[in-house]
Amino acid sequence: MPNFSLPDEVFEQAAKTFPTPFHLYDEAGIRRNARELKQAFAWCEDFEEYFAVKALPNPAILRILKEEGCGVDCSSETELMLAEANGFRGRDIMFSANAMPPEEFDHARALSAIVNLDDITHIEILRRHGGIPETVCVRYNPGGDFKIGTEIMGNPGEAKYGFTLPQLREGLRQLKELGAKRFGLHAFLSSNNTDEEYYPTLAGILFRTGRELSEELQLPLAFVNLSGGVGIPYRPEQKKTDIMAVGEGVRRAYEEHFPNGGVALKTELGRWMTGPMGWLVTHATHRKETYRSYIGLDACAANLMRPAMYGAYHHITVCGKRDWPCDHTYDVTGCLCENNDKFAIGRALPRIDIGDVVVIHDTGAHGYSMGYNYNGRLRSAEVLYREDGSFRLIRRAETPADYFATLDVDECYKELNR
Ligand SMILES: *Cc1c(COP(=O)(O)O)cnc(C)c1O
Repeated sequence: MPNFSLPDEVFEQAAKTFPTPFHLYDEAGIRRNARELKQAFAWCEDFEEYFAVKALPNPAILRILKEEGCGVDCSSETELMLAEANGFRGRDIMFSANAMPPEEFDHARALSAIVNLDDITHIEILRRHGGIPETVCVRYNPGGDFKIGTEIMGNPGEAKYGFTLPQLREGLRQLKELGAKRFGLHAFLSSNNTDEEYYPTLAGILFRTGRELSEELQLPLAFVNLSGGVGIPYRPEQKKTDIMAVGEGVRRAYEEHFPNGGVALKTELGRWMTGPMGWLVTHATHRKETYRSYIGLDACAANLMRPAMYGAYHHITVCGKRDWPCDHTYDVTGCLCENNDKFAIGRALPRIDIGDVVVIHDTGAHGYSMGYNYNGRLRSAEVLYREDGSFRLIRRAETPADYFATLDVDECYKELNR
């Protein structure tokens, strides 16, 4: 079920301190997750988590994760800049981009980041932009359906990412010729997967493929990168992924394929690390009765796009009313002129009054970062709930000047940007 680890008093206090809406992140919870993940893979002599920056690209969060021994997974120029500004260098940065501007490889190589190639044509791009490093990672796409047992868990054949197996064979041969001394193998086959067999199944595929390619091409396999995709329970009836069981499953696969060890293991979790440790804190501002009952919030899809984009479920609670019966049925909406701007549709909730603090759960990954400016709506602030119980503003809310900043080419708007 969703994360209820913070009491309502924390949200109420935060909502008194900062204008809503804002995303609130729990520092202690993020540290707890980072430590639990490390423990789950403690059996591996060389394990590193590369937090997927796109999930929560805030410097304060990246620094917390750095203190916990994590690296970062970047996929764009600005994410590389964030990594650099927060002191990440070299093997603590993974650069996993696709269809990227070629200059981004130069930047990644200048930081000595590990480059994860998405396609066979990227070998030539990397050769021209930064050069072929001794250790290079390649992204595998086995095609078809990805199954765990008989259940289809993803459709790699439909996904734009990665090399086919014949391309891996040819690509690694080329990379070796161009000076690569060892390689890493990466794949991302299923998203938000709470099945404890996801990582072990994926690991089995990558371990076997990596071992076979390494023997065939006489190129050592330096590491396997299990990427992201471990899911979280957004819905009340879902259970939390037991990360210790996941680590144990990967260990069994590892020992089967690499009884003598020697292959490092990497993950790039985003959602699992921070998703449950964020909440979008809002006020109810409108009540409307027409053909349905609506509650309007001061937040909208510009602050949390997942429900509008994927029909994703996010749990909603009303501060001070956790024990009230859920005897009202509401559509909970934002203010966009776009009918998919609904955080919940036909949701059973306690009676909501204007002024109530309404909390949307599990917004700590792919929440703020997916935000946008449709309808001229502005992105919210981000607040850190620190371990000592204090709050710290870690990103201010946008102002109209931010919105108009890119119009500085227009005489009229130069004034506004001063
Ligand atoms: C998005 C992404 C991740 C993180 O995915 P989560 O679902 O947040 O775990 C990791 N690696 C790559 C290459 C990604 O694109």
